[in-house]
Amino acid sequence: MSLLIKNGTIVTATESKTADILCEGETISAIGENLDAPGGAEVVDAAGKYVFPGFIDPHVHIYLPFMGTFSKDDYRSGSEAALVGGTTTLIEMCCPSREDDPLEAFALWNGKAAGVSACDYSFHMAVTRFDDDTPGKLRRIVRDHGIASFKIFLAYKGAFGIDDHELYATLKLAKELGVIVTAHCENADLVAELQQKLVAAGRTGPEWHEPSRPMSVEAEGCHHLMTFAELTGAHVYVVHTSCRDAIEAITTAREHRGVKAWIETVIPYLVLDKTWAEKPDFEGAKYVMSPPIREAAQQEVLWKALADGTISTVATDHAPFDFGTQKHMGHPDAGKCVDAQFKPTGAGGNFTTIPNGIPSVEHRVNLLYTHGVAKGRIDLQTFVRAASTEAAKLFGLYPRKGEIAVGSDADLVVYDPEYRGVITAESQAMNVDYSAFEGWEIEGRPALVTVRGEVAARDGAFTGTHGRGQLLRREPTHA
Ligand SMILES: [Zn+2]
Repeated sequence: MSLLIKNGTIVTATESKTADILCEGETISAIGENLDAPGGAEVVDAAGKYVFPGFIDPHVHIYLPFMGTFSKDDYRSGSEAALVGGTTTLIEMCCPSREDDPLEAFALWNGKAAGVSACDYSFHMAVTRFDDDTPGKLRRIVRDHGIASFKIFLAYKGAFGIDDHELYATLKLAKELGVIVTAHCENADLVAELQQKLVAAGRTGPEWHEPSRPMSVEAEGCHHLMTFAELTGAHVYVVHTSCRDAIEAITTAREHRGVKAWIETVIPYLVLDKTWAEKPDFEGAKYVMSPPIREAAQQEVLWKALADGTISTVATDHAPFDFGTQKHMGHPDAGKCVDAQFKPTGAGGNFTTIPNGIPSVEHRVNLLYTHGVAKGRIDLQTFVRAASTEAAKLFGLYPRKGEIAVGSDADLVVYDPEYRGVITAESQAMNVDYSAFEGWEIEGRPALVTVRGEVAARDGAFTGTHGRGQLLRREPTHA
């Protein structure tokens, strides 16, 4: 089966040009003017539209046991949502608890995707404990399964978080293997102290989540990681960076101490501010994630850092929990709200028992285009770089993914900048009962999305094949 996309404006991280793209089999076979369609090829007229490389979301959670419950998507709904929104590759956090065996955890996570996902995928392997057996198991995961990145948590003490001894050992091993380490940077002890203080003072609503994890606590986590990266030489990637103080802790280490560090932000931080988490009647719980969404002034800081290249990638940290039941685990009347699958929280809930996450895998690309490109905050090259190419380069997928070139996978997004629509929970593919962006207007959306040559979405409707998605083999590149 072949596909000829004609007359589109091809946009990559480095250039824009008008040309035709021929896809044969699973890859791009020719790029040029006035290409002829082979017999039987589908021909798509992309005049007036952009053609982008398939977008990569390098930070999602699909299978996520967290705070006594599970995030709502599986690879069926999750990959559909990704594809209708233009994302053709997901990199999921494989997040075992401290008690779990890493090899068994990898098999469990991979088993959720294999045979189900309609888009390609890989995993960042979380290191949530480091003992004598850990190095051998991590080496096998890297070597046997093509996993070229780890994930560590400085937050979530007692669940995923590791201590400094484990942090040092993990970074040392990563350096040896050439594996990049992605990291959630918040000081876990400070968060615990502040949570306790606020709850004791009766400050229990969702609006107190942000004050329990202030910018300084995130910046401290970043500084902490930078010190360990400096002393081990490991390459690190700070996930979901929310604010100026955190960025400064990283750029200072990068510029003055030679630390190899990259910065990710996520779409909620670019378009939401903390007043959303202050909405009455517990509605603020829809907007609880960690680090928290910040004061409005931080949005412009992030857009500027994205435009000038300080921030490398825009991901989502997609983690969907239903508002009506799961988010209500943090409601003062939580005991009345829990359903059978949850452990009852006993006494009333508070902001510390609201499952963290803002569902956004479906809307990342359209929100970034609408609020970034269409508003003139970032140019098209920055848009492609941050939402696709840079993730491919950092995580060992380039130039197979993140590029439009002969020989690259035919993962393409024909994007209609003239489309106008509205985000609603009712019309979304994500399996969750609310949208954090309900009623928001969108300028532009994917008209056609391909995964390795197969059309997987058209005009907001999924047309792909479940089970066709592949685990992408990645080689470590951060020696
Ligand atoms: Zn995450």
